[in-house]
Formats: sequence, structure tokens, C-alpha cells
Amino acid sequence: MDMKEVMKNHFLSLDEASRNPDRKVAWCTSVGPAEILRAMDFEVYFPENHGALLGATRTTEKTIPLADSRGYSQDICSYLRSDIGAYLQGFTPLERAYGIKSVPKPDVLVYCTNQCKDVMHWFEFFSRQYQAPIFGIHPPTNLPEIQQSHIRDVTDQYKELILFLEEITHSKIKPDRLAQAVKLSKEATDLWADVLGLCRNSPSPFDFFDATISMGPIVVLRGTEIAKDFYQKLYSEITAQIARQGSDNQERFRLYWDGMPVWGRLRSLSGLFDNHHASIVASTYCNSWIFSDFNPEKPLESMALAYLKIFINRNDHYKEEYILNIIEEFNIDGVVFHNAKTCPNNTNIHYNLPNRLRSKGIKSVVIDGDLNDLRCFSDEQSANRIEAFLEILE
Ligand code: SF4
Repeated sequence: MDMKEVMKNHFLSLDEASRNPDRKVAWCTSVGPAEILRAMDFEVYFPENHGALLGATRTTEKTIPLADSRGYSQDICSYLRSDIGAYLQGFTPLERAYGIKSVPKPDVLVYCTNQCKDVMHWFEFFSRQYQAPIFGIHPPTNLPEIQQSHIRDVTDQYKELILFLEEITHSKIKPDRLAQAVKLSKEATDLWADVLGLCRNSPSPFDFFDATISMGPIVVLRGTEIAKDFYQKLYSEITAQIARQGSDNQERFRLYWDGMPVWGRLRSLSGLFDNHHASIVASTYCNSWIFSDFNPEKPLESMALAYLKIFINRNDHYKEEYILNIIEEFNIDGVVFHNAKTCPNNTNIHYNLPNRLRSKGIKSVVIDGDLNDLRCFSDEQSANRIEAFLEILE
């Protein structure tokens, strides 16, 4: 199945589940414990994916101001505001894409604040609107190291979550189903890592902008055969393409992207870098769905470790070392930092990281913008900064 087919089936299945009294829909945050929900037979819906879809289809012009007018500050997550605004407007891009009139109604909402606290406010809004039960995992955050006590803490919260969900489903979780979901997630995420690793090649067979378009299944279909099969096929296709094309090297610069994508400007930014033969070969964002620690023999503990360990949940020293390692591994010439105004959580310029990298010989540029609120993004200013940066690299 190709990407469009995979995503279409995903949304159609959710739509069907939300209208079928025998099936249940759980909403989950993008790096939340999806494997537990899969193991308990929930269809899993990810509002952040809907937020990205609103951004990529550039339909946030009306939805964001609507949320703003209802008291949601312009300083908070524009995914949240796009999505709440879309709900208030009775709009979803799923209608145009798949004929689906609304997002699936939740039977339960499960969030994890390993990425930020905005997801809590976002899910609480929808819990009130739909009068649906809600459960939050609150892990330790901004960690320098992961301690056993952190893993125990999150594992215990997962156990509480399972008890909570068992009351909703009126059935006990099956340990073999949980192990299977974690196994499938592990296989899919390893394949995703392999796909991203192909960008070690020079010229890189694809870039950050292509990767953002291929990452839907690893976000929304973790714990399923579908995600695993999709990345297996993608990996085979790209390796075959590399073998066919040889090394016609047009790549002048290899770059790293830190921060969120600018969803409404993927195409124009991609064109801008292409024009200068600059390839963004690695990114914090796409790497955020590599969870090497999943282990079906210790499903809850390994999920706790994997979801605690994510880049966004770590201290700045970890982030600096992480980026330095990738720069070396992928032979990167410079870093593009996206200063996303409404997501300080996934923006890493605020505590001197670009300067610290510069002191180690790593050049970087900062572009101001946002993931979904294009009022914060200037095409001209970004293009000027990127072009000036590429001149410096040259
Ligand atoms: S991490 Fe950023 S973009 Fe994602 S939900 Fe939180 S504030 Fe929004």
C-alpha cells in the first residue's frame, strides 16, 4: 500500500469505529502510550496529526483566529488552536480528502506530558466537549539521565491507565496482545530508523521535506502490521533507487533541521533548498519517532524508557551531544534552527545552543516561524537568512 492508501484506510477505519457501538476510539498524543491502546482494541486517533494536516493544507487561516477569539492565547501551541478552531468551525480537511465529515468522537482521551503541557489543555477541552473520560500520564520531564526511579514512576502510571481503560472496555488487557503491539512498534520504528539512515548516503536519496510526508504511519499506526509493512516497502524502494541512480552528486550542502516543520511552507522551503543544492539530511523532528528501546519481553518498562528518552524530554546538554553526534554521523555542514513561536518546547535556540555549537565549529542559522500559524512566518526574511547562510557555508 502506498502512503495515501495507508492514511486513507486509517481515517476511514476511525470513522467507521466512531459510528459503530461495538468499537471504541481512543485519542492519544503523538508520543503517548499507543501500544496499550492497541492492545486493548481501541482504534487510535492522534489530534496532532490532524493539526499537522490543518497546517499542511493551509486551512488554519480561519481556524486559528476562531480559537484565539475564544480565549486561546496566540502564544500557545498552534496545533492546539488550529484543531480547536476547526472543531468550533465544524471543519476538517478529512472531508475534502476522504469524504469524512468530522474527526472521530472519542470514547476516551489519553495524553502524556513527555512533550509539553499544551497537550493536557488540548485534550481537556475535548474531554469537556465530548464528555469523554480522560487520563493523563505525567512523567518526569527535561531529564539529563533516565533513572530507574523514572521508569518505575511511568510504569506505575501505565498500570493505573490500564485499570482505568479496563473499566471502559469491561475486559482485561491481554499480556500477549500488549507484547505483540510493542513488538510491532519496535519493528516499525527500527525500519523508520533504517529509512532515515539512508540519508547518510551522499547525495542523500531524500530530504527532511520528503521524510515529513512519509512519517504518517510511524506516528499514527505504531503497534500495527501496517506501519511495519509500509516502512519495509519504503526502505526497499529507496535502496533500489540508490542502486539504480549511482552517485550523480549534485549535493553541495548537507544540513540538519532542528525544530518543528513549517507545515504550510513545506513545498516552498523544499524548493528554496533544492535551488541551492542544499539537502536537509537529518532532523530532530523525524528522529523523534525512533524508539529503539521497545522490548516485547518488558512491554511496560520498555515503553516507559522509550517515551521518557525522547529528545524533547531531555536537558540541553543531552540535546547538544545528540545533535553533535548526528552532525558527525551524517556528515553535516550546518544546522537550520526553526524558532517556532508557539512551540518553545520543540525549539532549541532559547538557551544558547546555537552559540555552544558555534564554539565547536558548527555553523547555524535561525529562521523565525511557526508550525501552523503562518502569521509568524515571513517568506522573504526566511529566504534571505537561508541564502545568506548558504553563502557563508560556501
Ligand atoms: S510539542 Fe509543540 S507542537 Fe507539539 S503539542 Fe506541544 S506545543 Fe504543540
